[in-house]
Amino acid sequence: MLYNLNSNIFHLGIDDTDSNEGLCTTYLGTQIVNLLLDYQVLFLDFPLLIRLNPNIPFKTRGNGAIAFRFILDQSRVDSLWSDLIKIIEEFSDIKAAETHPGMVLIKGEIPTFMKNLYSKALNELISLEDVKKELKEDNNIRLFFLKKGRGLIGASAAIGSTLDQDYTFELIAYRIKDNWGDKKRLIDKKTVFTADREEPLTISNIDNDHGDIMILPHGPDPVYCGIRGETVKSVVNMWRSLKVFEPIETLMIYRTNQHTRVHFLTDSDSNNIHPFQSIISKGEVIESPRYIEGAHVIFSLKIDENIIDCAAYEPTKKFRNQVMGLHKGDILQVCGGIRAHEQGKSLTLNLEEFTVLYLKTEFKYLTPKCPHCNITLKSAGKNSGFKCKRCSFTAHKKYYIKLQTPRVLKPNVRYVSPVCAQRHLTKPIDREVSLQFHSFNETSFSEQFDDFLNIREDILRNIINHKEN
Ligand code: ATP
Repeated sequence: MLYNLNSNIFHLGIDDTDSNEGLCTTYLGTQIVNLLLDYQVLFLDFPLLIRLNPNIPFKTRGNGAIAFRFILDQSRVDSLWSDLIKIIEEFSDIKAAETHPGMVLIKGEIPTFMKNLYSKALNELISLEDVKKELKEDNNIRLFFLKKGRGLIGASAAIGSTLDQDYTFELIAYRIKDNWGDKKRLIDKKTVFTADREEPLTISNIDNDHGDIMILPHGPDPVYCGIRGETVKSVVNMWRSLKVFEPIETLMIYRTNQHTRVHFLTDSDSNNIHPFQSIISKGEVIESPRYIEGAHVIFSLKIDENIIDCAAYEPTKKFRNQVMGLHKGDILQVCGGIRAHEQGKSLTLNLEEFTVLYLKTEFKYLTPKCPHCNITLKSAGKNSGFKCKRCSFTAHKKYYIKLQTPRVLKPNVRYVSPVCAQRHLTKPIDREVSLQFHSFNETSFSEQFDDFLNIREDILRNIINHKEN
């Protein structure tokens, strides 16, 4: 298709189409890509999978919204818009009580309020009314929503996410419709471990601590598996190496903010900590960690004048041992989600990671040993020194050996919950140098996505042959 003076840049955002009973917003995204291909748009980027505040109460699973950026001839927009609405109606689980789909289409520049909304939606609870007030339909903004239309929040925030700093990729494979539901996902697990080892630029696809694979979801949704990585090549290579024992309908690659820790970039206002926030803050341990019922670990932290409980819950497994290594007096940076408030109780932070900024030095005082026999001296009585029981060596005054107590934790190291308990936005400890991979992109995302679409059928055939062999 030729792009002429009538062509415009469009940004499309969609959210809240699935439920715990089925469907998936990223699967709906594959239908959108097919439709946009029919309209011969020029994709400016991969489809975006944007994770928002993991602590909001309405999320189905991972609080993910999707967005698309493309160029299209203005004369075709009305027709595209009505086709998009048909897709939302067909592929949303509208019967589910908590599904409230929302779709936003923007022409031209991304409005500043959407960029600001993205930043805020990463760690705050946003009011739908506030977003609806900002979203006034005009020549440049089209809106569609069903039921309460809560999806307009995620849809607008996803448009506002420019992902111009850090980002990762996820290749998602979708099951054929006959296999949706509770059918077990079939795969040769060994090939997942091998592929993961051979592709160092993949991320969090294996939980090495517990020897588990992380790429298969467990719900009734259409997703067969999701492979995460720093580069398109890494996720495609890993997919090609897997032995898949069921038919696959299609594949999609999303560019995402997963594993970038973008929800913890700026310090939270310590005087306004409230439920459903994701916060990053500094404080002092004022009560040492202890185990409570359910094998959760809890300690008290003083952030300015406020005291909050910090919890490492049972599913965070060995992370709890690291938390147990904290002592009263340590000064920390903590990151995590504030849980819903129980009346009369202090706020609880669901700890995702911490860094010790000041490790309290502690000493213990030991009774000296006999310089001749090397056995611990005994008191020679009140107001006297020490005496050796074996050789009668005497120290006339009591004195003690001051020893620094060794600490297990190290200062300025990020301690992060293990892969099995991580949020989508959590940055794993071994992903500190991620940006270096991104500065070498020679081709634009537009070209890379085009390349992927060109090889997509080929990779699918590959996998099917794999199965038959
Ligand atoms: P999945 O991960 O399976 O796609 P989900 O976990 O993203 O599902 P949704 O069904 O999309 O869950 O529901 C999340 C809802 O919360 C959406 O309506 C979205 O617009 C809204 N939302 C997202 N972020 C915020 C936020 N920070 N404050 C308030 N609402 C939000």
